[in-house]
Amino acid sequence: MAYCDGCGAPLEDCDGTCRGELDPPRFCRECGRKLDVQVTPTGYRAGCRRHPPVAPTGEPKL
Ligand SMILES: [Zn+2]
Ligand SMILES: [Zn+2]
Repeated sequence: MAYCDGCGAPLEDCDGTCRGELDPPRFCRECGRKLDVQVTPTGYRAGCRRHPPVAPTGEPKL
């Protein structure tokens, strides 16, 4: 089971419009829990308490 990283719903229940291309993920893809998101000058870091932090996938466009 995978979850949407934008809204935390199961992927099959989400049409993918909940998260903008440049928005950081807010929910863990593996468990659907809310992530601790830290925005940094170069991007962001998002970590789940149960799963290791996901690698930054987005660089903000300035
Ligand atoms: Zn979603
Ligand atoms: Zn998780």
